[in-house]
Amino acid sequence: MPAGILMESTLIILKPDCVKAGLCGTVLSRFEKEGFTIAAMKMVRLSRALLEEHYSHLSGKPFFPSLLEFMSSTPVIVAVLKRENAVEKARQICGKTNPAEAAEGTIRRQYGSSVQANIIHASDSLQSAEREIRRFFKPEEICA
Ligand code: UDP
Ligand code: MG
Repeated sequence: MPAGILMESTLIILKPDCVKAGLCGTVLSRFEKEGFTIAAMKMVRLSRALLEEHYSHLSGKPFFPSLLEFMSSTPVIVAVLKRENAVEKARQICGKTNPAEAAEGTIRRQYGSSVQANIIHASDSLQSAEREIRRFFKPEEICA
């Protein structure tokens, strides 16, 4: 690929179920095999305030309190991944929100155990990727 052409960044979160099951290496390896590179990564316990912002589009849903509880139950791994067409490709590799509906071969289908405990978050558009990367990382934490 010509240098820099259509290079995108996306944000992923390896959720508490991924961390507890010891699947972080496996999931990251899958992205590397698919041509993604890691531009930033850290392990953090996400605060309620940050999660409320991150999931604000779901604040009216009945599962919202339980989602916040789940996402703050253990530290998680947050990472910025780069690739051509990264946002769409990452969503494809993850599969649908509900692991039972996710396509064969996707991360959520293979490792997810419920619609809540679905292993991974990935930004759903270029705009949310930009916003989410800014939410979780300082500019100096991201490698060029
Ligand atoms: N979620 C849930 N119950 C639902 C729908 C979503 O617990 O009925 C959780 C699930 O962990 C999901 C997250 O809320 O990944 C964010 O939901 P969204 O609709 O944004 O799905 P995603 O973009 O993660 O596929
Ligand atoms: Mg989403």
